[in-house]
Amino acid sequence: MSARILVVDDILPNVKLLEAKLSSEYYDVVTATNGLEALEKVESENPDIVLLDVMMPGMDGFEVCTRIKQNPKVSHIPVVMVTALTDTQDKVRGLEAGADDFLSKPINDTALMARVRSLVRLKMALDEWRMRENTANQLGVTDESSNVMNQPVTEAKVLVIEDKEFEKRKIEESLAEDRDTVMGASYGPEAMELVSHHDFDIIIISLNLEHEDGLRLCSHLRSNERTRNVPIVMVAEEDDMKKIAHGLEIGAHDYILRPVDRNELLARVRTQVRRKRFQEKLRSSYEVSLSMALTDALTGLYNRRYLEVHMDKLMEKNREAKKNFAVLYLDIDHFKAVNDTYGHKVGDEILQGFAKRLLEGLRSFDLVARLGGEEFVAVLPEVVEDRAYRIAERLRVMIQDKPFPCSIEGGALQITASVGGAIIEPGEHTVADVLKRADTCLYKAKQSGRNCVVFEDIGKLNPELYKSIPREDENEE
Ligand code: GH3
Ligand code: MG
Ligand code: MG
Repeated sequence: MSARILVVDDILPNVKLLEAKLSSEYYDVVTATNGLEALEKVESENPDIVLLDVMMPGMDGFEVCTRIKQNPKVSHIPVVMVTALTDTQDKVRGLEAGADDFLSKPINDTALMARVRSLVRLKMALDEWRMRENTANQLGVTDESSNVMNQPVTEAKVLVIEDKEFEKRKIEESLAEDRDTVMGASYGPEAMELVSHHDFDIIIISLNLEHEDGLRLCSHLRSNERTRNVPIVMVAEEDDMKKIAHGLEIGAHDYILRPVDRNELLARVRTQVRRKRFQEKLRSSYEVSLSMALTDALTGLYNRRYLEVHMDKLMEKNREAKKNFAVLYLDIDHFKAVNDTYGHKVGDEILQGFAKRLLEGLRSFDLVARLGGEEFVAVLPEVVEDRAYRIAERLRVMIQDKPFPCSIEGGALQITASVGGAIIEPGEHTVADVLKRADTCLYKAKQSGRNCVVFEDIGKLNPELYKSIPREDENEE
């Protein structure tokens, strides 16, 4: 997929020049020639990056940038300020307006492409998480991760890889303003040792290390599981442009030229740390939403939605491998009476204990789900028929034999459950059909007096024939 870039400049030849360069690299380019048009197109064209000229009549680039960053619908889109100004004061002003990066005019092609590529990559990663979060939100869980983008960034944990003591100290002093914790390393192994023990928010690395190739270290950090998502900012000399471009290509996020300006450093570190925190927030809220959407809050078991997807996959697999699996449909007997006699709270406790006992009685790769109410389903993959009968019967006995702890006088309540089972041969089945088959057997079990197991094809089990077998037995498979 090609990325879309919005080029904003009041001088048409400048627009055309950038458009030509970017189009030749197969980017999809949209343009605007003033601030208002830019703001419109940021919303309507859905660009992946904005290249924004600073000096424009009317609304200047700083103002446009500030407005983009204040609009939650588009604030995640990276903005690169394009400026003829080399004054660091202006850079800092831009960074404070929320700019993600700078390019100076005349534009160096290497720098342009490197920047665009690395920002597009970042944007795609963010989009991915935003999309998942969206899905999660639709499943009924909301979250305010976008707020992270507007919160002040302080107390970051920073790793500085620099062998010149003076430079290291300078970085440390600059970051003191944000109460960041700075740890230093002078060479690779020392750095790798530190990252194995600490969770850093950002890594600043010199490309001018005496005994070490900084780029190699960058690529090491990129592939290391503990630092894969930690932003890297390179520190380099002005004539290191080729190295810098290479660094951005292999995954470093940003760079700063020597002599390091204290405010520029602060601003760049803040931008990167903010982004990382945003990404983490998205990810963790996604994971929480996901588990909430797929599990049952009362018992922690999987819910129907998950069960359906899981069974569908299992049936596909079994079709190819020509394997059977068993489905057990379990339902607590006279559960309504438990609620009516002891109240809903005790009923809930029983349901929780019931879930726990099912998990204890099954193998770790069996799947247990609560379909709702007091109905549960267990899916037992790769199980021979005879063994499926034994497992079902053993579960029934495990439930009947030991009262369930709950908050009533005596502290526990005996309950029983009925079980319907079906062995599913490889073939074309729908999840609904399979559940129906097991449910029909459950109905028969209820009809035949409850507290028993009925299997499709063989009917009500004779407990004598399917005496419980030790659990360990099954784990040896
Ligand atoms: P049977 O032996 O035929 O299965 O009878 P039963 O009473 O167990 O079955 P029925 O389907 O008539 O009643 C199920 C009861 O489960 C009704 C409802 O109050 C209760 N129930 C459903 N969900 C929950 C829940 O989340 N918590 C509690 N405490 N009770 C629930
Ligand atoms: Mg019941
Ligand atoms: Mg019921």
